[in-house]
Amino acid sequence: MAEFTIHTSLLFDPKKKAFVTNISLTVNPSTGLITRLTTRPTAALPTPLPPNDIDLTGKVVLPGFVDAHTHIFLHSYSERPSLEQKRDASAAERVIRATNHLRAALLAGYTTYRDLGSESMGDADANVRDAVARGLTPGPRLFVATRVLASSGAYEPRTENGPASCGGSGGCGLPAGSDVVDGVEEARKAVRRRIAAGADVIKFYADYRRRVMRFPPKQLHPYEGSVLFPPDTPNPDVMVFAQEEMDMIVREATLARCPVAAHCGTVEAGMAAVAAGVKTIEHSYFASDELFRGMAAKSIVFVPTLAVCERLHAARFPQILAQTKRAYDLGVRLAAGGDTGTFPHGENAREVELLIEAGVSVEDALEACTVGGWEACGGDWCGYRFGWFDEGLRADVVALDADPRQDKQALRKVSFVMKDARVWKRDGVAVGMV
Ligand SMILES: [Zn+2]
Repeated sequence: MAEFTIHTSLLFDPKKKAFVTNISLTVNPSTGLITRLTTRPTAALPTPLPPNDIDLTGKVVLPGFVDAHTHIFLHSYSERPSLEQKRDASAAERVIRATNHLRAALLAGYTTYRDLGSESMGDADANVRDAVARGLTPGPRLFVATRVLASSGAYEPRTENGPASCGGSGGCGLPAGSDVVDGVEEARKAVRRRIAAGADVIKFYADYRRRVMRFPPKQLHPYEGSVLFPPDTPNPDVMVFAQEEMDMIVREATLARCPVAAHCGTVEAGMAAVAAGVKTIEHSYFASDELFRGMAAKSIVFVPTLAVCERLHAARFPQILAQTKRAYDLGVRLAAGGDTGTFPHGENAREVELLIEAGVSVEDALEACTVGGWEACGGDWCGYRFGWFDEGLRADVVALDADPRQDKQALRKVSFVMKDARVWKRDGVAVGMV
């Protein structure tokens, strides 16, 4: 297939964190790469325009977006709670939903997903990744974690009738949530097992709500009232791993050039993950300056997942926004990842909107959603370059009908999407998705 050129009048360059004018990008559909980047002397386009060239003048052009924290096998918790999805939905339904999710994400301009845990679907995320990569179904380029690492019973679909290994009273066939790790040697083995299963990133739980759901939110037991006098914090986040286990997870993953993502709710867990040297820290519902300074000193990427916090931690959301701004002010490297799947795929841009609402500049928020996402995927360890415009990068291009500096809704106005030099959306309409 012959090369062709995309002509732009206004383009966001995430490396410069600036909007630049009159850039033309030549791409090669055979390799999926950008082959040439030129600055036209004027706004004028070549006449006549070569028949395969694409005119994106008048639009705001950006690199394809990266969502740095997703779950392809989850759909919105407001439609169906997490436990019910894992417990009741068939594997076939969950895969079919995932293909729909990926199509919606791609049409929303998201050309890369870092998918952080298959949520009781075993290693099927790696299989979906490969199906997308083979062109069987449209979707973002996927980097997947397969099963998450957690200690015994720490991250499972937990009910009082769950398996004894998870603190319940018996085995009722609930699907496993995590790859269970107890002890330093098992941590080493589990990382090796994950990489063999196809993981591109290792995700572990540094802390979690580990108690069996004896004080259930009502969605877990819709036909029963809850207990009469629950404690103020019925199921607090507590540590899942000891420091030496986290250290081993990171050390072993590093041998395989595999980035590590740590789920952290508390400052204590965040500090331990910083000491272990993870690549990214997810959530940090509770944070401190000491934690953020530690992250900044080690260039650890912070993925604050504001879009899920807005829904699930609404009471503390103002503090969560404020601490995200504090992290930004202290120089912590940010990536945009919404924990997408807990809310609808296709609404991924909510995370970037909330970063801006927190006080991150538009340019830095867009950079977090592009280059920041690439770094969260492991940077050059991931085997590809994407997230900015240069020769040799993946030809992932998005065009908006509005300027995000002026229009808060601009990221929802995606009229053009290209991934790997293939056009999936043009003039606001999906193409090639039959
Ligand atoms: Zn998540």
